[in-house]
Amino acid sequence: MIITRFAPSPTGYLHIGGLRTALLNYLWAKKNGGKFLLRIEDTDRSRHNEDAVTAILEAFEWVGLKSDEEIVYQSKRDEIYKKYIEQLLEENRAYRCYMTKEELEALREEQTAKKERPRYDGRYRDFTGVPPEGVEPVIRIKAPTEGSIVVHDRIKGSIEFRVADTLDDFIIARADGSPTYNFVVAVDDALMGVNEVIRGDDHLSNTPKQIVVYEALGFELPTFYHVPMIHNESGKKLSKRDGATDVMEYKREGYYPESLLNFLLRLGWSYGDQEIFTMDEMLNLFNPKDISKSASIYNIDKLNWINGEYLKKRSREELAKDLNIEPTPIINLVKDRCSTLGELQTEIDKILLRPESYDSKSIKKHFKELNRELLEEFLEQLKSSENSCEEIFSSILEKSGTGMVKLAQPVRIALVGVAQSPSVVDVVSILGRDEVVYRIEKFLESQKG
Ligand code: GLU
Repeated sequence: MIITRFAPSPTGYLHIGGLRTALLNYLWAKKNGGKFLLRIEDTDRSRHNEDAVTAILEAFEWVGLKSDEEIVYQSKRDEIYKKYIEQLLEENRAYRCYMTKEELEALREEQTAKKERPRYDGRYRDFTGVPPEGVEPVIRIKAPTEGSIVVHDRIKGSIEFRVADTLDDFIIARADGSPTYNFVVAVDDALMGVNEVIRGDDHLSNTPKQIVVYEALGFELPTFYHVPMIHNESGKKLSKRDGATDVMEYKREGYYPESLLNFLLRLGWSYGDQEIFTMDEMLNLFNPKDISKSASIYNIDKLNWINGEYLKKRSREELAKDLNIEPTPIINLVKDRCSTLGELQTEIDKILLRPESYDSKSIKKHFKELNRELLEEFLEQLKSSENSCEEIFSSILEKSGTGMVKLAQPVRIALVGVAQSPSVVDVVSILGRDEVVYRIEKFLESQKG
């Protein structure tokens, strides 16, 4: 059974790149009838932040990716880590190192002076003497001292890490007894039964260390997939300037979680030229080995387009529910030009709410003497005639022998404040005669004197 996981560090909020990693793990597990697990990596107590955990879980709730088992919190697993550290000490696969900070610094300086890579020199590896007094030891793992560690990555291929260049007997427990990052990740993945690890390639350099831990503890290695990062269009790491990085920001702006997931899957993965994928299609078609080896480019226009497609497919009633408003027919009038619920709300308001002011450019361009007369005539007939708005419209234009814009633009300005709106006949019929009369009178009043 395939078991995958997503393991966020709660540093603030769920990052869009993190959600993508979570999605890939989720799809791969579900596609194979396996399990997707969630682990909160909250060992960094100084930054430990309950709010950040809550924010991450909220985001997961919103997008609907559920952990198949109880969520694992590293902060609650001290006893487990201790047990494995003890085991390694007993088996002589790890040891106490009494080197002081000063000694470590001196070693570093010496190595740098010789143009060597700073690394621990293993001086306590086989130490059997009397430990120096007053030094709380750290615990170091016995890493290989020569050769290389090869990461067999399903996306990047086999990557060789030469021990001499990348590894030393690294610390697995600090002087205060707290275990270190690479140690706990390896222990947790192994104990949780995780056998396929899909994660950002910013973690690739951690992998050899984690392999050392796996091997020391006799755990079976998982399959690794290191996914290239998401970049902005200038090829740099995605930052807030390129678009929201907080997943919940997308909720606030009115994106659908389904479309966000669709968009994220398409970053660095494709299936022909298909752009829109239902969850079932994602599950059927996705395989992490098809993820591109090069960085994927974040493009907000693409997301807007995808979200617009999702939005268009929804009925007026569904959209009204999404927005928590009455199912006004204005929705149908404007939905095709909107890419987010936020935009949809704005477009609805532009028609639904009485204008607070009138755009001076529109007035200058479209409110000439003739147009004023046409508008006044329109108002008169609305008040006195039984005919429909549409009929009134055409009869005025016919009588005056002028084009549609001459009347349509001033009506628009009067109704919504600017000379842009959907079909003016539609707007008029949705607002209803009384409201149209009211708005035109208000407008004409504002233009007096
Ligand atoms: N906690 C790590 C992070 O948030 C991920 C660890 C992993 O995937 O191995 O970047």
